[in-house]
Amino acid sequence: MRRPLLSLALSAAVAISASAIDFVTIGTGGVTGVYYPTGGAVCRMANKNRAQTGIRCTVESTGGSVYNVNTINAGELDFGIAQSDVVYQAYKGEGKFAGKRIEKLRTIMTIHPEPLTFVVTKASGIKSLADMKGKVINIGNPGSGQRNMVDMLFKESTLDRSMLKAAEQLKAAEMPKALKDGKIDGYFYTVGHPSANIKEAANSVDIDIVNITPENFPEAKKILDNMPYYAIGKIPGGTYDGIEEDRHTMGVKATLVTSSDVSDKKVTAIVEAIMENFEKFKSMHPAYKGLTKQSVLQGLGAPLHPAAKAYYKKHGILQ
Ligand code: GLU
Repeated sequence: MRRPLLSLALSAAVAISASAIDFVTIGTGGVTGVYYPTGGAVCRMANKNRAQTGIRCTVESTGGSVYNVNTINAGELDFGIAQSDVVYQAYKGEGKFAGKRIEKLRTIMTIHPEPLTFVVTKASGIKSLADMKGKVINIGNPGSGQRNMVDMLFKESTLDRSMLKAAEQLKAAEMPKALKDGKIDGYFYTVGHPSANIKEAANSVDIDIVNITPENFPEAKKILDNMPYYAIGKIPGGTYDGIEEDRHTMGVKATLVTSSDVSDKKVTAIVEAIMENFEKFKSMHPAYKGLTKQSVLQGLGAPLHPAAKAYYKKHGILQ
């Protein structure tokens, strides 16, 4: 008789403590990208404060930026990481979000830069976007930020999807192997550097990264002038095996986002986890090199969530 009673008491205790815990999920990207470890780093720190905050954070690998903002909008994710261009377009109802504005999208902070990285095999001979003609290129899975950017390039320039021999839509984690196996000549990935994904490619086949600037792609000028969330960024030489010189390409910033429906309590727990362990957080991935307590407010494409704004004001980060 003692056993069932004890287990009854135990399960009652578990039920009580579980009801006091709020679960939150952060939507990220492919496991070899930078979003996934970023979500992991945020949750790791948030979960340390679980006893005080009552928040239990988990991370989910997803299809990327567009998937994340749509799923936040549907109320199925509390938090997500998304590219600044996607956040801007979603909030304003522009680009792919025309007529589908996500008015309740809110930002928490900007994290790391993400250049549009066009990874090709050296054997493909691709040196510029125009050289994609007749090649097999992975343009990104639907739902990814890179796919949104590549579709934008096709729309805003004389480049066209029909110039490719084939346009593949593999998910990020599958791209390096497809490149190595010769199934694709190149892939687009808007990602922070260094990324495990591109290291995997560089370690298995001779790769190059193609510059995408007004010098070798004149139509970039119009895009950069008209769309303020794109800016030329650098991938330093030596980041990946076989690429010794800097590469320059159009880039965006990774942003942690949520919805205005998500409670102040949840948002405060996440903001505090990062800001109060800032140096520790910064040390968790080399892509956060340029991150400062001020840079978290740069280039936000949607309004700050009120709880994030309150935190920044209280701590003098926002005037
Ligand atoms: N920028 C990519 C996207 O929005 C994800 C990059 C990553 O996973 O680090 O889909």
